[in-house]
Amino acid sequence: MTAQTQATRAATIDVDAAFDRYEAVRHRLPRAHFPFASRRARDLAEIAEDFDVFILDAFGVLNVGERAIPGAVARIAALREAGKRLFVATNAASYPRGVALAKYRALGFDFTAEEVVSSRDVAAAGLASFAGIDLWAVAGGPEPDLSDLTGRTEDLEADASLLERAEGFLLLSSASWTPAKQEALVAALAARPRPLLVGNPDLVAPRETGLTLEPGWWAHDIADRTGIDPVFFGKPYANVFAAVRARCPGFERLRVAMVGDTLHTDILGGRAAGCAGVLVAEHGLFAGRDTAAYIARSGIVPDIVCRTT
Ligand SMILES: [Mg+2]
Repeated sequence: MTAQTQATRAATIDVDAAFDRYEAVRHRLPRAHFPFASRRARDLAEIAEDFDVFILDAFGVLNVGERAIPGAVARIAALREAGKRLFVATNAASYPRGVALAKYRALGFDFTAEEVVSSRDVAAAGLASFAGIDLWAVAGGPEPDLSDLTGRTEDLEADASLLERAEGFLLLSSASWTPAKQEALVAALAARPRPLLVGNPDLVAPRETGLTLEPGWWAHDIADRTGIDPVFFGKPYANVFAAVRARCPGFERLRVAMVGDTLHTDILGGRAAGCAGVLVAEHGLFAGRDTAAYIARSGIVPDIVCRTT
């Protein structure tokens, strides 16, 4: 059995299986050039002078689950005090951006709505730009709030007839997605190919119970099995960095760091967008592991590896 079919039958997978799958879908990820070696630093304070703008991933940089990473709130406040431009670029697409912002605020961060760039917002804009599609079926988790999406959208998981009726599909959340739903969608798209948009390109997300499979995982499986080329919104793709650039005057002339815990989304995407890649190693996907081994295997080399935020 391949890793892929195994994982569509399991609720969670481990970091090495996730890493292998990221490598297997590299042909659908952006290309980038990387430095020969990474500089090591303790935290973002140590590298602050080198950058004007910090684009921050959320999970693994600001928070782990429902708690802020120790020292992160003070570090972000100090960067702001020092005049740095700050953005949060998150692939969390299960909820409208306001929910994410409220969460960061509850953890003690002072980000403004303008500073939070979510892949969901980028996907919503992408959806609006698809002409001639009158009905989208959306996988958005249990009882999804689709009010921020323009056009006619319906909950795919609440009505199986959408597999036939919908003219396009949008994967935002896999919180209530199942292998059975996946098989039904693959069969429907194999029988009649239609556009597939993905609002969260992540393959996995770390939770208390292990790694869960995210919309990107299911979308690559659909692509492998139907030949459909999904349209991904969020890191590592250029559209999310374009959204940051649109909110940051002078972006091209500024020294920009993309700070994250994941090689194939944060570091690859940041480098492809012309940013420096800063890996925070201690809290996220590679917590407790030797990041050097994963860097060597993927060739995705961060400019800087920080222990913590
Ligand atoms: Mg992360």
